[in-house]
Amino acid sequence: MNNVICDGKSYVPSKIICVGRNYPKHASELDNPIPNEPVIFIKPNSAISTTLFSSSTEVHHYEAEICLMIKNGQYHAIGVGLDVTKRALQLQLKANGLPWEMAKAFDGSALFSCFDLLNNRKLADFSIELWVEKQLEQKGAVTEMIFSPDYLLKYLNKFFTLNDGDIIMTGTPNGVGQLESKKDYEISLLESAKVVSQHKWKAV
Ligand code: ZN
Repeated sequence: MNNVICDGKSYVPSKIICVGRNYPKHASELDNPIPNEPVIFIKPNSAISTTLFSSSTEVHHYEAEICLMIKNGQYHAIGVGLDVTKRALQLQLKANGLPWEMAKAFDGSALFSCFDLLNNRKLADFSIELWVEKQLEQKGAVTEMIFSPDYLLKYLNKFFTLNDGDIIMTGTPNGVGQLESKKDYEISLLESAKVVSQHKWKAV
């Protein structure tokens, strides 16, 4: 099983719960309506990778996201991640009313930084930036989310048992785009507009 690191300890997420269309500008860039209820899908543990794979034959998009780790049923830690998406395949599945797993839950579709403890820090103070080759491509804040982390936790608890180490990917802001081999993808996590951590992947 794949693991992630939080505060120097290893956790094995049983699942990654992803929120689609949680930022208004991202919903509209993909021509989706603003949802009335959260759009939820799951990635299995096997989707977790430390290598960022691009593809020369399929459209792989990056989606930078604020990620929250669960412990004892609560948000325990915060990190950043990439929800890698086979976009052309997803569009085809959507058009046919089919589940998205083939486009969202494949091996190598979930990448995470280390997670830092939240303690009493306020989720509303956090934001992220994605820099591709030192160019700012995505920027989003918890305060811009359609469904707040607190709302999501209550909502998800109605459907799923949240195990220690499970991760919520809270959705991507606008600015998604194609992953290209040899390019650097760096996500900064900001707290009250100050960078508190950074994680970089080079696509292969
Ligand atoms: Zn996403």
